[in-house]
Amino acid sequence: MENNCNKISINKMVPPIKKVSFLEILEKRKKKREKIKEIQEDFLGYCIHVGKISYGCRSCFKDSKYNLSEALGWKCNLNCSYCFSNKNLTEKTENQIDDMIGRHYRNSLNPDYGKRGPTGFAFTMGEPLLYMKRMEKYMYHLKEIEKRTGNRPYYKLYTNGVLATKKTLKKLKEIGIDEIRFHPSASNFSAKVYKNMEEAVKTGFIVAVEEPCWPKNRKKLFEMLPIIDKIGVKHLQMCIVEVYDYNIAEIYKDYPSGLFFHDNLLHMYDEGLVYDIMEKVLKKKYKFSVLDCSNEVHRHNRSQSRKVVEACEKEEGEKVFFNPWKEGIIK
Ligand code: SF4
Repeated sequence: MENNCNKISINKMVPPIKKVSFLEILEKRKKKREKIKEIQEDFLGYCIHVGKISYGCRSCFKDSKYNLSEALGWKCNLNCSYCFSNKNLTEKTENQIDDMIGRHYRNSLNPDYGKRGPTGFAFTMGEPLLYMKRMEKYMYHLKEIEKRTGNRPYYKLYTNGVLATKKTLKKLKEIGIDEIRFHPSASNFSAKVYKNMEEAVKTGFIVAVEEPCWPKNRKKLFEMLPIIDKIGVKHLQMCIVEVYDYNIAEIYKDYPSGLFFHDNLLHMYDEGLVYDIMEKVLKKKYKFSVLDCSNEVHRHNRSQSRKVVEACEKEEGEKVFFNPWKEGIIK
């Protein structure tokens, strides 16, 4: 999940959150990690994972000026307290969507686009499946660019999964989406969403789960693990909760005992959740990978270290990323 705002406005009423030092959190996380020897640490230690992670996560570790994720609109059919998307923003117009496509088209005219073009493209923020017509239009142009330049990005979308019906999945397949990332906790882990995930696997998508490290969901997240393994989910991304001026009040209301710390932006401590999940996945030998999408990834994502990583990408990339081309999943 990505965002473009990281300031807590001083004009807003900030609830009395409990803050802890960033270094204290780093130390706690390190100690916990050290107890699980199978955890892999790659890309200068920023990429902490178990198993081969999604190709769709590649852009968070490697610098490319063309990697893109776009919001088609800000609306959602659900309402999570920690939501990273700012629903107070003015809804996007058709003109803005055309402008986004135009920007991408102009980028594709750059001479290095064929070789250094985007490795990935994501539809994110709000609920993208509420905007199917916009997505169809966008994908049509991206596919045209692909034919002209020879650069084939990996296309993914984020969804809470409620609207991912058989008919919608068929359409997503037709327009060229490769991976669908579901967020089951948004619907309180509804049976309907699990059924839609099963259908997505049958339709031939690479199915992933992306969940916030929300300590309140701990029990249900552990119950989810065998279910998603059985469904055939390939990857699980556990994201640290990002705190902004527009979600801080709701987060505090829903989970007042949360511990907050400031790295490059304000985050909520996961209370050990991600490494406990990794440990369980290793113990049970579940087949999906797990990525610790922590504050360290966010810091790295927004910093110069991505350029350094590029130097080791060739060597480490092979072992870190699940490559759907190599696996024959994408032709
Ligand atoms: S499903 Fe996603 S976009 Fe919708 S409210 Fe929850 S976190 Fe926000």
